[in-house]
Amino acid sequence: MTLFEKIIARQIPAKIVAESEDWLAFHDISPQAPVHVLVVPKKVITRVGEATPEDESLLGKLLLATQEVARALGVSNSGFRIVINHGRDGGETVPHLHIHVLGGRPLGWPPG
Ligand code: 5GP
Repeated sequence: MTLFEKIIARQIPAKIVAESEDWLAFHDISPQAPVHVLVVPKKVITRVGEATPEDESLLGKLLLATQEVARALGVSNSGFRIVINHGRDGGETVPHLHIHVLGGRPLGWPPG
């Protein structure tokens, strides 16, 4: 099981923000901004580039989940960024699809 599967299964603790039958949102253990939450599908999809057409609806739900997280944590109006890292050069470290939701401070662009 990947780390995030263990968090979904409550085998590893995490600070949960919101949940649905399809996804779980929890605070990143090493926050890079005042708000830094990970939204992960409960279905195992290794990374975004390996999602299939069958995952189309689930991917939409994950994006809508980021909206819900941003609202719940009060950054919807101030602004936030969502990030998906894919593979080595993308900076992916956990092989289970996750969307970072970052906010609570101005975020630089371009990313490093
Ligand atoms: P990636 O680098 O794969 O895009 O993002 C993985 C994220 O998972 C990182 O931001 C990292 O801080 C976070 N992370 C790693 N281990 C844990 C953990 O045990 N608990 C939580 N909540 N986040 C973790």
